[in-house]
Amino acid sequence: MSTRRKFIKISALSATFLSGGFQFASAFAGSVKQGKGSKPIVISTWDHGIPANEAAWKILSKNGSALDAVEAGVRVPEADPNVRTVGYGGYPDREGKVTLDACIMDKDSNCGSVAFLQHIKHPISVARRVMEDTPHVMLVGEGALQFALSKGFKKENLLTPESEKDWRNWLQESKYKPVINIENHDTIGMLALDANGDLAGACTTSGAAYKMHGRVGDSPIIGAGLFVDNEVGAATATGLGEAVIRMVGSHLVVELMRQGNSPEDACRLAVERIISKQKDVKDLQVGFIALNKNGEYGGYCIHKGFNYAIQDKSGTKLLDGKSKF
Ligand code: ASP
Repeated sequence: MSTRRKFIKISALSATFLSGGFQFASAFAGSVKQGKGSKPIVISTWDHGIPANEAAWKILSKNGSALDAVEAGVRVPEADPNVRTVGYGGYPDREGKVTLDACIMDKDSNCGSVAFLQHIKHPISVARRVMEDTPHVMLVGEGALQFALSKGFKKENLLTPESEKDWRNWLQESKYKPVINIENHDTIGMLALDANGDLAGACTTSGAAYKMHGRVGDSPIIGAGLFVDNEVGAATATGLGEAVIRMVGSHLVVELMRQGNSPEDACRLAVERIISKQKDVKDLQVGFIALNKNGEYGGYCIHKGFNYAIQDKSGTKLLDGKSKF
């Protein structure tokens, strides 16, 4: 997405240019070092992770829970019409409908998820209500909408004039080719470790731009787009959801950490597994980030161009994920 690309260029020149109200102890798009352990800490995919982390940090820094932090954090890009890949203002499907996917998971392996949800600006908060107020994990489509309305969420039009214009332009050719890591993707996945040493994660997206109506990606699928095991660590994914679902990517990353791999190595091994099952990865992008129980973190992706944001007591950083190619 263009804001991410701009950020990568600009951040090397001037950390303060985009820093707005939040503090930059350091901000750079350099090569990844294995993240040192600390707590509390929050990490998120892409540059929109920076303001999201800032909202999460307000909670974590006051000894709040990782669960409250990740929900509050990802609500920031969900509400931002300039983030065209999450929530309000997200790119619609090929029929011009904005359909959202989200999930959340806590330290006790409780989880909630919504998929193919329309008209609700904050799918992550609906996912949390599914987790807390129902005996289920996942609600989809009309049922998820009815549930959200019953819980007092407001029905809104999420298609902004900008997204509608882009969709109408796309309609001229209507090429259905999900091109990842170009201009139409970028889920936010967020992982946090709180002062108490507990983990939680959240993941929310408008999914692939101009997807088929009814398409659901990895982001609301527990184990694929997000997984948390409070004994070990947490992981979340971005990129082509179909490739992530096939390998149950985030669960794989957590299991690789359980076997003793560092977060970065676990992400790399999961990326390599995905690559090994594909004939051609030229147009395929997948990235993972992971955070373990000690507050160590890492990220890895197929192709260059993926980055992730970290906030801890030393400040904010934006790191390029290491990549296979
Ligand atoms: N993983 C998301 C999906 O496939 C999109 C993304 O991360 O960019 O829906």
